[in-house]
Amino acid sequence: MDIKASVLAAIGNTPLINLNRASEETGCTILGKAEFMNPGHSVKDRAALGIVTDAIDRGELRAGGTIVDGTAGNTGIGLTVVGNALGMKTVIVIPETQSQEKKDTLRSLGASLVEVPAVPYRNPNNYVKVAARVAARIAQENPQGAIFANQFDNVANRDVHVRTTAPEIWDQTNGNVDAFVSAVGTGGTLAGVAQGLRDRKSDIVIALADVPGAALYNYYTTGELKAEGSSITEGIGQGRITANLEGLHVDQAFLIPDAESLAVAFALLKDEGLALGLSSGVNVAGAIRLAKELGPGKTIVTMLCDPAARYQSRLFNPEFLRSKGLEPPEWLEHPVEVAP
Ligand code: PMP
Repeated sequence: MDIKASVLAAIGNTPLINLNRASEETGCTILGKAEFMNPGHSVKDRAALGIVTDAIDRGELRAGGTIVDGTAGNTGIGLTVVGNALGMKTVIVIPETQSQEKKDTLRSLGASLVEVPAVPYRNPNNYVKVAARVAARIAQENPQGAIFANQFDNVANRDVHVRTTAPEIWDQTNGNVDAFVSAVGTGGTLAGVAQGLRDRKSDIVIALADVPGAALYNYYTTGELKAEGSSITEGIGQGRITANLEGLHVDQAFLIPDAESLAVAFALLKDEGLALGLSSGVNVAGAIRLAKELGPGKTIVTMLCDPAARYQSRLFNPEFLRSKGLEPPEWLEHPVEVAP
């Protein structure tokens, strides 16, 4: 018998897939961890389960209670999947700039959605700060209680990657792994996997793949938290050192423009049959750049965070892409017509 006790037991243990073209092109072995195969279809199911389990263990959350967080969408979807399985309500505060597909998915799962204007973190009306206030209010009003999941500064997020993602990568490669590269939203993935892999192999190379508009590339290369430009990539791009990032040492950092991540994402779709969101394009572009730095023969692991379907109306919309100065691929603009 091979039966999972609930959907929660189906989170994690994702396959590690050889990205054949990227591997051939670089002479390295580039592997992608298929996080889009989680029940909520993203890497953030892990953080959601880690945060909720931690709150239950500390006696802060029980069935009937409410989980509140500010998220670009994927953490909200993960929290709602976990919350539904445990009899908890979810309230998700999301910047209105995020894709319609993620908002629709949240509503379909039964989350209460609070859409707020996208303003910087220092503004008191930033989505994360609104979520903290909403959680405090519900905690007072609802006898069953409420928690602010606080994914950016709650290290239960990073810890779940130390405990699950890193050992999975180690076991799946039999310890033959030379480097790990990832983009950062909260930093839970990069910092947690870095810690878990360094515990097993102290000289493993840890690399950041960052996007324009975020401050971490500058921070890890010059020490200055400075952002320039912008990106259409959702779910990543951090402007501060979150609690999850505290203490992280990064060996290499790359800044990946949208034209590069988009080309990689479309190549993964056409060459490998992997239709992924743009943060996965950033990650694999980072892995390719790192492979070229390290030279052939290395094994490099990265994350395939979520599916392209979550961004259908943007990534596959030539007008949207052109409005952002990006060139849509020929097959998207002029699909091959076949008569009925
Ligand atoms: N990719 C996507 C699509 C995401 O939604 C997120 C999380 N916001 C990440 C990558 C980054 O993960 P983390 O929060 O662990 O840094």
